[in-house]
Amino acid sequence: MNTTSSQHFELECINCHTRLPLTRDVTGCPSCGENILEARYDLHKIDPQTWVQTLRRRQPNLWRYREVLPILDSAHIVSLGEGGTPLIRSQALATSLGLKHLYIKDERQGPTGSFKDRQATVAISALKEMGVNELVVASTGNVAIAYAAYCARAGIKLWAFFPSLTPGEKMREAALYGAEVIKITGTYDQTKEIAARFARSKGIFFDRGIKSVASIEAMKTMAYEIAQDLGEEYEEGARWRAPDWFLQSVSGGMGPIGVAKGFREMVGFGLVDKMPALGLVQSAGCAPMVEAFERGQRIATPVETPQTIIATLATGNPGRAYELLYDYVQAHGGYFTAATDDDAFTATLILARTDGISVEPATAVTFAGLINLVRQRIIKPDDIVVVNCSGHTMAVEKHILGEQWQHSVDLSGQARLPALPEEGLLSALEQVEAQVRRIVIIEDNMDAARLIRRILQARGSYDIHLAHNGAAGIQLIHEVMPDLVVTDLMMPDVDGFQVIDTLKADPKLAHIPIVVVTAKELTAAERARLNGQIDMLLQKGSFVDDRFIESLVSKLK
Ligand SMILES: *Cc1c(COP(=O)(O)O)cnc(C)c1O
Ligand SMILES: [Zn+2]
Repeated sequence: MNTTSSQHFELECINCHTRLPLTRDVTGCPSCGENILEARYDLHKIDPQTWVQTLRRRQPNLWRYREVLPILDSAHIVSLGEGGTPLIRSQALATSLGLKHLYIKDERQGPTGSFKDRQATVAISALKEMGVNELVVASTGNVAIAYAAYCARAGIKLWAFFPSLTPGEKMREAALYGAEVIKITGTYDQTKEIAARFARSKGIFFDRGIKSVASIEAMKTMAYEIAQDLGEEYEEGARWRAPDWFLQSVSGGMGPIGVAKGFREMVGFGLVDKMPALGLVQSAGCAPMVEAFERGQRIATPVETPQTIIATLATGNPGRAYELLYDYVQAHGGYFTAATDDDAFTATLILARTDGISVEPATAVTFAGLINLVRQRIIKPDDIVVVNCSGHTMAVEKHILGEQWQHSVDLSGQARLPALPEEGLLSALEQVEAQVRRIVIIEDNMDAARLIRRILQARGSYDIHLAHNGAAGIQLIHEVMPDLVVTDLMMPDVDGFQVIDTLKADPKLAHIPIVVVTAKELTAAERARLNGQIDMLLQKGSFVDDRFIESLVSKLK
């Protein structure tokens, strides 16, 4: 397994299987014009069992898989410690969706905050190996940021072209690393065209042919890491494990194409015994793949003017990538689905406030897609599901939080900070408090109560108090005078019916809206007893989903 000397890989055309070496001039297949070339390794030289043992002793970054990466000499590797991101088990989101095995592949933890770091380390290392010292790239944001960081490290000059939809913060981040930033007022597809023309006229390298090789090879390392981590969780010995589902939001599609190649190689090694289904999610305002899939077509019609504010996902023309993904889904299962920008923003809040994970809108689209696929019962409760948590929030969250995300207390008129407690400060804080709606939840199942609290908190700033039995609930209601009471019916001692009767009998409490959440099928007599007394009856299922919360929140208005 000596990787530093002899040629250990070649490129192969995925269409006519012509083989050729990787050089800086490669843009596609010289025989048939196909633009997707895949790296092929001498896999038979690798003994999987020995390799698996060796991997354990290596640094946990993606270069630990160097035998299956397209670099000849490891001296050329440009690394910032990327890859090796944690596979985090979701608790709250998993519970609220009724999933038993939901994992978040936390790609936010890369050096520049997105999974494009994988692509950058492999592409920039390969370019360095070929002696490239100036480079043009077109990007909706994250590729350019990652390339800018790795180019800075490699001493390569970068020209980064962005469509105007890209948030300014992302362009500034690329500029910070020393890239020349060019903003094009136009779509991403137009930006790519301008960047290519600029590169041609200046004789500068344009990342085109190498891009698909490097990105497929880079992205496949996610598959290796996932299989290795799941193997440790579900298998014995040196076996690895493929999940049932891999989900990602798609724009260009190189992520899932790379992941698919990774699983194919591992099946070849005998390390895993199947290929995962792919859950491919697009932004509804730019969903050429989903639209073609729904029509049963293998060729997508490009979207000319994407209608999404999520720049990362605004690739209007998916080209070849869609055909490859379509073929994969036909062969191994999977689904294409779309989510609106609003669904994505809601998912962002839920994920941040329940699982403590803050993601950028493009990533939130994946989670919104996950919710769709679970609701449609395409993803089943027992499936092992891995979501590519592709990128960090960065500074884009202004779309998500709206205007009222902070409470301000203005002390600028005061010469000095008032001594506490002082009139001005206290009344300012009281005003803040007065805007916060108070909710009492009475529920004897602690986990259910906490989950309802966390999901409600994901929707706004509510002051939520929990009681675990009817008697404590009634006392709590007297203390906090809530704007809404949510109660279970079946509880030991003082049950939900008694709570309701007590509230309705007390003139000070009778006006408080009551929502009953119950797992029980009610008898006719019980229904009659609730009639006119409560504001809403919700059936408790495995799903504590958006509609449930929507109805709750509506009672507060
Ligand atoms: C690039 C990117 C995507 C889309 O990935 P592709 O595999 O290129 O389609 C999704 N999320 C984030 C954060 C990205 O940077
Ligand atoms: Zn070919």
